[in-house]
Amino acid sequence: MKPAPVPSDEVDRQKSLEAMGLLSTPRDPELDRITRLAERLFGSDIVAISLLDNDRQFFKSRVNLSVSETGRDISFCGHAVMHDAPLVVSNALDDDRFHDNPLVTGGPEIRSYLGVPISNQQGYKLGTLCVIDSKKRDFTKDEIATLQDLAHWVETVIALRYSERSQKQLLEDLNTAQRDVLIDTLTGIWNRRGLEELLGREISSAQIKSAPVGIFMLDIDHFKRVNDTYGHLVGDKVIQSISEIMASSMRDQDIIGRFGGEEFVCILPGLRLERMMYLGYKLCETFREQCKVTNKDGELVSVTVSVGATWLSPHATTKYSSDQVLQTADDALYEAKKGGRDTVRYIPLDEHGSLETLEE
Ligand code: GH3
Ligand code: MG
Ligand code: MG
Repeated sequence: MKPAPVPSDEVDRQKSLEAMGLLSTPRDPELDRITRLAERLFGSDIVAISLLDNDRQFFKSRVNLSVSETGRDISFCGHAVMHDAPLVVSNALDDDRFHDNPLVTGGPEIRSYLGVPISNQQGYKLGTLCVIDSKKRDFTKDEIATLQDLAHWVETVIALRYSERSQKQLLEDLNTAQRDVLIDTLTGIWNRRGLEELLGREISSAQIKSAPVGIFMLDIDHFKRVNDTYGHLVGDKVIQSISEIMASSMRDQDIIGRFGGEEFVCILPGLRLERMMYLGYKLCETFREQCKVTNKDGELVSVTVSVGATWLSPHATTKYSSDQVLQTADDALYEAKKGGRDTVRYIPLDEHGSLETLEE
């Protein structure tokens, strides 16, 4: 027997798989539907979605299989993930990788195996969708294509259900100590690390849904003057007030955070471009009217905010990294400052985000 090889990207692969929160989770009705369908289509003894975890394979969905995991070294799936193409074994007894494998010589006495690798959004191979029989069997081209289609479906379901990680999901994923490092102490909103983590997740989720994502980078105008005139503590109160206004002005699904000093970021999933532009101007107005902090003498301290905006069209979500998106929003913010502050400037990422498309 040849033990299942270890992929060259194993450390990153394992990390990526763990981050999805798929391992050691209960069966998923959507994935079970796919394995049931495969059983009906192939008439196989066993169907499984196998995930390769450290030294075991965990069955996320299984038909006619009474164990939830087996050792990875003896797994067929561990061999299957080494290639992009499906692994076809017509008779395990004739295959020197498997002929004396305990799953062949003992229960479930595997003879034939067809497994298609399943990858996540980052391109790491998580495991396989496989059909297994205790009789030898040749697989036709059509059958292989059918299992490939089903495996693609598995990838889509996994991506939708396990990569679509909103703020709520992120919170569920982390323990208290892990969450603490992503929250800004002064304002209680996400900090830069939290924002970067969430932006990555939102972009992946938007890719799957073919949905857009809007981004605002905001910066308080002439904030140094506020500090210099009224002191640092009043400055802090202004920063808190701005984040409270942001929190109350945004939709539930929007993500707000403090990017640094007096800079903030809003991530606006699924927002149309014209709506985003409207919201940007509306936000400036709201800050202008509502951000009124008083100093110890009761003097009113008003501030304004400049907004840099960019927008990932559904076409752009696969083309730009979080860093590129944030840099573009920052460039737009610089333009807003140059344009006199207390205003919005927008820079498109590509032609699909051109403001002219709004006028058509
Ligand atoms: P601009 O309109 O160009 O943004 O001018 P600005 O004065 O706001 O920008 P600048 O970058 O010159 O100054 C930002 C100031 O924000 C300087 C820094 O001391 C202050 N700041 C950063 N973080 C905090 C904070 O947590 N609390 C307070 N009170 N001030 C802060
Ligand atoms: Mg600044
Ligand atoms: Mg500023």
